[in-house]
Amino acid sequence: MPEAQETVLEINLKALRENFHYLKSQIDSGVKFLAVVKAFAYGSDSTAIALELQDAGVDYFAVAYVSEGVLLRDAGVKKPILVLHPQVANLKKLIDYCLEPSLYNTKILNAFLEVASTERQIDYPVHIKFNTGLNRLGFVEKDIPTIGSKIIKSKVLKIKSLFSHLAASEDLNERAFTLQQIESFKHLAKLLSDELGYQPMLHMSNTSGILNYPEAHFDMVRSGIGLYGFGNSVKENKHFKPVASLKTVISQIHTIKKGDSVGYNRAFVSDSDQRTATLPIGHADGIGRQYGQGKGYVIINGKRAPIVGNVCMDMIMVNITDIDCKEGDEVIVFNASNTAEDLARTAKTISYEIITAISQRVKRIFLR
Ligand SMILES: *Cc1c(COP(=O)(O)O)cnc(C)c1O
Repeated sequence: MPEAQETVLEINLKALRENFHYLKSQIDSGVKFLAVVKAFAYGSDSTAIALELQDAGVDYFAVAYVSEGVLLRDAGVKKPILVLHPQVANLKKLIDYCLEPSLYNTKILNAFLEVASTERQIDYPVHIKFNTGLNRLGFVEKDIPTIGSKIIKSKVLKIKSLFSHLAASEDLNERAFTLQQIESFKHLAKLLSDELGYQPMLHMSNTSGILNYPEAHFDMVRSGIGLYGFGNSVKENKHFKPVASLKTVISQIHTIKKGDSVGYNRAFVSDSDQRTATLPIGHADGIGRQYGQGKGYVIINGKRAPIVGNVCMDMIMVNITDIDCKEGDEVIVFNASNTAEDLARTAKTISYEIITAISQRVKRIFLR
């Protein structure tokens, strides 16, 4: 591997495939696999990841918004794409790009019925989302007769799946709550299927649901974080390999004397003679200010160099007093052994947040 000469996010497509195969090994062969590639495939690269997974045999994709689905279609993704949180303003575009909406309340159901009728659609595939306890999006039991009658009467829409989302599939202390969600989902799915007179696919498991609740696999599972190499516990993490590595380079080294300050607001004032390195990565690249003031760190020649002072927009300064290094040396922000999750923990957050924050300014490089 050549050393990074600028800030790059290396994306290991082999690790992606391995994570996919591990997740597949945890579900029955008849269960379909939906890959969640929202938010630029969790901050990596949505089109490259989706094309790789399409090739590897994923059945379905999901994104949050219509614009994300449009990107995938333009890049040549042919598999069905579920849009988890479509907005009323983009429904015609959703149809133009053969994307499939999640319908989660009467407002979006009515709006989509209207647009699909105007566009002269017949049996347009849609997905009905139930709220079983997350209290984020979804219909509840009393909505079922309305959904059923509207859809049957109009013939414009065909319900391809019924789904719900688990609130705490990673937390085994919440097992009773999760089992309750699963039972509630089965109940709601039966009521609506009876109303419709046909049986749509059912799905409710995210990555931790796949690993912890085989009884919630139903006809399809939806995985995001596991594909990118993280679980939600030490035990879950063992099965995955982080896909993205964030690397940068030392731009300049400074010798700091006792009493000197480093960076904006003079947030760090040295109590001894030290050395710092300035790196071309800042909060505009996804390393937020919460990682500053000694909390976050990078790895230089195998050693931890804590961030000194405030994170700037385009740079951070790190303490290299005890590290043998020079200008131009490679710096690891995170990789498969010094993980994004470890770094996230220093700012009291989770892997999901740090990886999805890596901005589009950072160059992506793909490894096979
Ligand atoms: C983001 C999301 C997922 C993926 O969850 P992971 O924990 O990343 O596997 C699945 N389903 C829905 C509805 C989501 O919003």
